[in-house]
Amino acid sequence: MKLGFIGLGVMGAPMAAHLVAAGHDVGGYDVTPAAGEKLRAAGGRAATGVADAVAGADVVITMLPNHPQVEDVVLAGGGVLDTAEPGTLLIDMSTIRPETSIAIAEAARDRKIRVLDAPVSGGQAGAEQASLSIMVGGLEEDFAAAKPVLAAVGKTIVHVGPHGAGQVVKAANQLVVGGIYGLVAEAIVLLEASGVDAATGLDVLAGGLAGSRILELKRQSMVDRQFAPGFRIDLHHKDMGIALAAARQADVALPLTGLVAQLVAAGRAMGYGSLDHSALLKVVEQLSGRVPAEV
Ligand code: NAD
Repeated sequence: MKLGFIGLGVMGAPMAAHLVAAGHDVGGYDVTPAAGEKLRAAGGRAATGVADAVAGADVVITMLPNHPQVEDVVLAGGGVLDTAEPGTLLIDMSTIRPETSIAIAEAARDRKIRVLDAPVSGGQAGAEQASLSIMVGGLEEDFAAAKPVLAAVGKTIVHVGPHGAGQVVKAANQLVVGGIYGLVAEAIVLLEASGVDAATGLDVLAGGLAGSRILELKRQSMVDRQFAPGFRIDLHHKDMGIALAAARQADVALPLTGLVAQLVAAGRAMGYGSLDHSALLKVVEQLSGRVPAEV
């Protein structure tokens, strides 16, 4: 297939390279020109702009930071909806607010462009290993058309409901991930402050009911205070905002999500925005008057 790929960052670059490797003709665009060069080196085409990436594409994928960038690339004049042929399938894989995904789907309907929201979980490693979990909102027939393309970048690919539903599932994912990081951070602080070896304690937790993928993958790096991203606190701060806005929209109270959102916001305010989200440990340490190790 002929694919346009817009947003070649931490996630988009390896995803676009996997699509090239799967035999697709990929034209990629990013505001950072070096990202286009990297795609060219991987066998793709560096497009000169959004319209160039979209020209003649059967499928356009966007992997952008947040809703303002998605609105700019998709809805603005000269953007995807303006320049794509009727019948093109737009798959937005960015994590954004559900209502923006719904608004895009409505705007696209008039232009006869098909749209899916398809945010991902699995992080940079998942993108590099083509093992992402992908939660897809939109029409069933569009999901069926997208599945062979998504299979080149993901392993678990699930149609979760109508437009916006993929983003709601992603918001639920992020509140659980943030909550578990916060609790693992509290466990480490308690263990260390009590004179118990944190690594040994967490080994036991990982084998019992408290075990989780986060404990499995991240307990050692947290105990070692290795906070290179990964997934940045800044992006998780955005995602907690999306989760709280979705909760408000759905008229539900999510008190733990509210608390975790404040801890993430504190991490950002303390200057840890560009560290991995496991750096919530530094926030929890400071709440107890403990001096976090320099990273
Ligand atoms: P990133 O900042 O590394 O990449 C985004 C890219 O979009 C950048 O290269 C940027 O230059 C480009 N961009 C911004 N505005 C643009 C525009 N107008 N036109 C063209 N390109 C533009 O971010 P990322 O880590 O790749 O994340 C992308 C999305 O995936 C985010 O919504 C994030 O929340 C989500 N996500 C990230 C991870 C992760 O571990 N990094 C995991 C799951 C989901």
